[in-house]
Amino acid sequence: MAKNSILPIFIPQGGCPHRCVFCNQREISGCAQPPQLAELAGLIPSDFPAEGELAFYGGSFTALPPDVLKSYLRFAAEQKEKGRISHIRVSTHPAYVDEIMIAKLLSYGVDFLELGVQSLDDTVLEQAGRGHGSKAVFAALKALASSSLAWGVQLMLGLPSDTEDKDLASVEKILPYAPQTARIYPLLVIENTPLASSWRKGSYLPLSLNEAVSISAKMYALFVLHGVRVIRMGLQPTEDLKVGGKSLLAGPFHPAFGHLVRAALKREQMAMAAVGHENEDIRFLCAKDDLPLVFGDQKKNIESFAVGRRAAVSGVDLPPGSLAVAPYDKGAKSKPFAVLSERDFLLKFTQTYRSPYCI
Ligand code: SF4
Repeated sequence: MAKNSILPIFIPQGGCPHRCVFCNQREISGCAQPPQLAELAGLIPSDFPAEGELAFYGGSFTALPPDVLKSYLRFAAEQKEKGRISHIRVSTHPAYVDEIMIAKLLSYGVDFLELGVQSLDDTVLEQAGRGHGSKAVFAALKALASSSLAWGVQLMLGLPSDTEDKDLASVEKILPYAPQTARIYPLLVIENTPLASSWRKGSYLPLSLNEAVSISAKMYALFVLHGVRVIRMGLQPTEDLKVGGKSLLAGPFHPAFGHLVRAALKREQMAMAAVGHENEDIRFLCAKDDLPLVFGDQKKNIESFAVGRRAAVSGVDLPPGSLAVAPYDKGAKSKPFAVLSERDFLLKFTQTYRSPYCI
């Protein structure tokens, strides 16, 4: 088992005060019930690394009944004290995060809280059945930002009445609170949810894969530019949650969604770097680890530049994220015309769609 392993403990919709229209944690996690206290210890494999993290996912952890919350927290704290794990992570609902709750989590040694924001648009939140408006989210963001607890956000795109502008505005409204991490999830239609009924009636239309990739790339760029680490894009595939699986009805699912998003962004960087060399044979130079992104999914990125001219890629000694355009013929030894750093690219790229009032 690798270092930095995460052991997820699913509490499917545990504590959730409402049923969000898109949510069926039992289908997504493949887990029917939150574990009983007596079962918890058996969930930690004997070879689980001491550097590992115990993570309570799939519900509103801080809204669990107080006795259940206390018993889970006490269990996690004991495992940490015994050295069986090093970190504790919880995910929860914004309406159940305030200074008192944060102090309680810290007192049990919780290290990280993931806040299921989903959107900061009131109409979107209402139609998603979240049971709260943006005011509750801002209150939670404020409490977290002024605490010593590390935290991150989860956002969704493609919710009913959602738009690209609303998704980008949600990111921009979160940035001043400086979360450490973000997850970006395009909405999928999961079996046995209110959204599945709307989709069957034709009143909900999911985003296409291309739309979801394009919007996610813009959200991702804003987060990364502001130092927020994007730790996941798209739901993890499971046996049921995959194309043809029994849980997934519709929506922009792809098993490597995050790679598609980063490759789409790299395609934008390639286009920006290649400005002024439109009619020349060109060679992109990048760090070796960036080669899969520069090639793109099924080599589509590089092939899109090889129309009516030659275009190639070489891995060289450049900082990760930087990209250069060079003459085609000299291979990896080509002297680049100029290097476009990731930061310069993100600054210019995000200026093409960000609200002018945002820093
Ligand atoms: S709060 Fe989270 S876990 Fe609970 S129903 Fe909504 S999306 Fe699902």
